[in-house]
Amino acid sequence: MYDAVIIGAGPGGYVAAIKLSQKGKKVALVEKSFVGGTCTNWGCIPTKALLSSTHLYLEITEKSKQLGVNVENVQYDFSTMKNHMNKVVTMSRKGIEYLLKKYNVELINGEATIESPNLVKVADTKLEAKNIVIATGSYPALIPPFDKVPNIWTSDDVFKMEKLPESILIVGGGVIGVEFATFFSTLKVPVTIVELMEHILPTEDKDVAEIIAKSLRKKEVQIYESSKVIDVQATDEGFKCLIETKEGTIEKTVQKVLVSVGRRPKIGEDVKKLGIEIQRGIKTNQKMQTNIPNIYAIGDVRGQIMLAHVAMYEGVVAAKNICGEEAYMDYSAVPSVIFSNPEVASVGIREKDADPSKVKIFSFPLSANGRARTILEREGFVKVIAEKETKKILGMTIVGPSATDMIMEGVIAIKNGLNAKELEESIHPHPTLTETILGAMEGIVEMPIHL
Ligand code: NAD
Repeated sequence: MYDAVIIGAGPGGYVAAIKLSQKGKKVALVEKSFVGGTCTNWGCIPTKALLSSTHLYLEITEKSKQLGVNVENVQYDFSTMKNHMNKVVTMSRKGIEYLLKKYNVELINGEATIESPNLVKVADTKLEAKNIVIATGSYPALIPPFDKVPNIWTSDDVFKMEKLPESILIVGGGVIGVEFATFFSTLKVPVTIVELMEHILPTEDKDVAEIIAKSLRKKEVQIYESSKVIDVQATDEGFKCLIETKEGTIEKTVQKVLVSVGRRPKIGEDVKKLGIEIQRGIKTNQKMQTNIPNIYAIGDVRGQIMLAHVAMYEGVVAAKNICGEEAYMDYSAVPSVIFSNPEVASVGIREKDADPSKVKIFSFPLSANGRARTILEREGFVKVIAEKETKKILGMTIVGPSATDMIMEGVIAIKNGLNAKELEESIHPHPTLTETILGAMEGIVEMPIHL
């Protein structure tokens, strides 16, 4: 009898498995494909590997002359970029396999079905379990009219491309859409984004989206906001798309179409048959338990915040509860990171969701930061949202280089209920980009020195 059988070895599942094993539990981890799930194999890791290549290319082409470094005849080689991506994916996967072995997690290859709250089947093998953790993840949504047309790409397909497309239309200007638009447009592939909402990155504030849209447009990306593809047809050249825009309906022919309009939880028939409650995804309490208390669900399969770092943390919470410790999931300080150019990162509430009568908001521009000047960057800001009376930090958004790393200051502040004065009184190293956070805190408390 296993203490826990975990289904799915993505970031949620493998982390839960390791944590349980570290706590002395007997664990089986069932995976039908590669360990690491979407994040390692078709998501976070391969995109960031590709974006590292384009980021370097952009730095050299745009900055080297001004920084006094003469680089002649700059070229890129897409097949080497792909090799780098594949190597990083393989290394990451091997790293997870190594850890699973190190901590004696039994990795079982195959498709699991839950027969009853204490029995999981993988082909003919029966695994008896005191607890079950469902961590089966999600798949890219393919909505009409794209679902009826062959060879439309989702994010899963992009990584299989042998060569760059001659042109691409990206449906959905969310996180995936913007990251791929950044990649393709840097390599001079003509890109069109069609976004349904008023602006791209609709979960972020408008001023954030404007900077990213400006930077994409500089790379010739055509962005249609408040727009929709109403028809798509396969042609000899690729795809003919009919786009309903604010200015009227237009036609566009492109070689490839990438649909990135969100993801759906992967819920098997076995889960439905067992009577596990579903609401968008598998419903759980804050201990990650479903309505069947010894069956837990973590990560994208819950249909809530679909981020690898959330899945990992939910995995830890589920593991602790299986071990009899009381652990509760806290979503108050979940960072969101977008590897655009410049990067975007947020935590806590956004300005658009704040009640203006209850908060003080201050934005400190990147252009007033010394370190940013040395690296020839000026587009971006740190925006802080604080409670009006107490100056407690409620939200932080950073647009600029290294935003995805810098956001941790905001995460720690919000998680621990810190106020702007406490952060302002923490000495920030000079000259660094973190001083933009300091400037924003000074703006909340009194006045910024450097503005
Ligand atoms: P998303 O929810 O971030 O974006 C989907 C976008 O599609 C939204 O802007 C939405 O308004 C738009 N949209 C919806 N229907 C549309 C339609 N019919 N026509 C045009 N636009 C339409 O989803 P995603 O970009 O597909 O990413 C999926 C998940 O993966 C998200 O949860 C995302 O956070 C996660 N992810 C995270 C990262 C990261 O952390 N850096 C990177 C990639 C993906």
